[in-house]
Amino acid sequence: MGTMTTDERIGEGIGVRSTARNVWNWLFAPLLRTITNGVAGAVILAPSGTAGSVLGAAVGGGLGAAHGWRMAYAHTYDWTTVGGVIEFIADNTWGLPNAVVGSLFATLNLWNGVKVEVSRASGSLYHASGWFGKYDTTFGNVTVGTIVPKHEAVHALQARIFGPLFYPLFIASYIICTIAPYWLLYHDTKNKPINSFGRYFKCGVYPHTWFEEWAYSIDGNPPCT
Ligand SMILES: [Zn+2]
Repeated sequence: MGTMTTDERIGEGIGVRSTARNVWNWLFAPLLRTITNGVAGAVILAPSGTAGSVLGAAVGGGLGAAHGWRMAYAHTYDWTTVGGVIEFIADNTWGLPNAVVGSLFATLNLWNGVKVEVSRASGSLYHASGWFGKYDTTFGNVTVGTIVPKHEAVHALQARIFGPLFYPLFIASYIICTIAPYWLLYHDTKNKPINSFGRYFKCGVYPHTWFEEWAYSIDGNPPCT
């Protein structure tokens, strides 16, 4: 008769919301990632003048587009939850320096297959092939390898919490753990002996850096062979 039943109206409401979410996922979210990355590129190259800013905006925007649309394809952000929206906001504001690093890593992984089933609603963009054997690697929210996805998600969270301080703290912890090995006080020397220069870094410094201690407390065991 042309009038909708309540069920049909509810159905239509759900349809409108899912269409809006699709437009957001596939268009506006990647576009914003492109724009914030372009602005970051322009700011980074601003000291070299107007031409530098324009180049920075173009390169930054290009990397951001690769990052943004790969995340759209992977359904990285869960747009139905507050947490998913906060992740997106963090990546484009406070966590932007890490997102810029992540966009470069995402672009370098355009050959690498995206793991949609692992990435979906995770806040991260996972790729199938790792770069370093039995280690997964994460820059920003971009991960290669799927051995310990929960561990790598902790690194994405750390980048969002610490924002521009994340990589400086990361580097500082490596320097401090290398030159002042306080971790020897509680290190499991019985099962993971430090008896060579290589093992000092692999079994000692690396798993005891601050962000790794935290991530390994949540998921995974540091390979020490
Ligand atoms: Zn780690």
